[in-house]
Amino acid sequence: MSEEIKVQLTATPGEKPDSQKLGFGKYFTDHMFVMDYHKDKGWHDPRIVPYAPIVMDPAAMVFHYGQAVFEGMKAYLTDSGKVLLFRPDQNMQRLNCSNDRLGIPEIDGDFVIHAIKTLIEIDKSWIPTEKGTSLYIRPFIIATEPCLGVRSSYTYQLIVILSPVGAYYSGGLEPVKINVESDYTRAVRGGIGFAKAAGNYAASIKAQENAKKDGFSQVLWLDAIEKKYIEEVGSMNIFFKIGGKVITPAINGSILKGVTRSSVIALLQEWGVPVEERKLSIDEIFEASQQGLLEEVFGTGTAAVISPVGELHWKEHTMKINEGKIGELSQKLYDTITGLQSGNLPDTRNWTIT
Ligand code: PMP
Repeated sequence: MSEEIKVQLTATPGEKPDSQKLGFGKYFTDHMFVMDYHKDKGWHDPRIVPYAPIVMDPAAMVFHYGQAVFEGMKAYLTDSGKVLLFRPDQNMQRLNCSNDRLGIPEIDGDFVIHAIKTLIEIDKSWIPTEKGTSLYIRPFIIATEPCLGVRSSYTYQLIVILSPVGAYYSGGLEPVKINVESDYTRAVRGGIGFAKAAGNYAASIKAQENAKKDGFSQVLWLDAIEKKYIEEVGSMNIFFKIGGKVITPAINGSILKGVTRSSVIALLQEWGVPVEERKLSIDEIFEASQQGLLEEVFGTGTAAVISPVGELHWKEHTMKINEGKIGELSQKLYDTITGLQSGNLPDTRNWTIT
């Protein structure tokens, strides 16, 4: 796609939030990127406009049948004032994978990256600079055609909004308490779990809220059929270090292929740490824990990067991991990935782009 991006700047720039109180996804920058799709015209009319509510027909298909996909990525401002994006090509590939599963038309990933860069350049002054803070980028696509027939929509809108976000950990990594979810299921093979579809998150909320009430920070999802094999933790992928080896569930159709997950696997391979992608049961984890071999557990995702697990609860069992302390490998992965993302470590793998 080569259509020029039209730009309409806001006449009323917003006030920047206090960088100590950013939190996650509460504030939005002055502008957004919008592009339309019509089945006869393809993607067209790319534009950057002032951030504002969107007007939609109440019959728009997204409200009824949930054709909605999204992505999540971050931009960092380096000490020298450059904006860095971390592996955005991977997010675009995943967006097209989600599109394909939900019957949404393909996007031109390179063009959307170009649009995101143009948008960030315009709202560059919104990128927070304090350690650990970043600009969260949320591209999403929704079905806009007013029609109550169950089929794929003839029209869509792709929108990109930007949100300055605070440091996920203000005082260093913090191990979390996780509950293994035995009742609810996030996703099933053949379903949409491998896509970053809005509906997957709606399906996860009830279990997440129950876990919070019981004092856990997230749930560990098991497979839908046997309720035995590990899938993901909250909205992160999960890794286990058992007897010197690192194991993560293989991508199987119901797990989201995380960009952080791929980066962790690549780093471990480079460092010569044995890493396996395979089926992994909760019984195997429990046994390893009983034998004193469960050395580290951590979640991986764009928001937290690495989230060490200090305690894992399964039925009546409590598995304490590394005495509830941060594992060496978890810390090294966190330092390396955040170092690359913020431009503080040399990028020899071409993972960051300006
Ligand atoms: N699983 C789910 C369900 C997620 O929502 C996310 C966050 N995108 C991840 C895993 C981690 O993916 P990534 O590393 O690309 O952020």
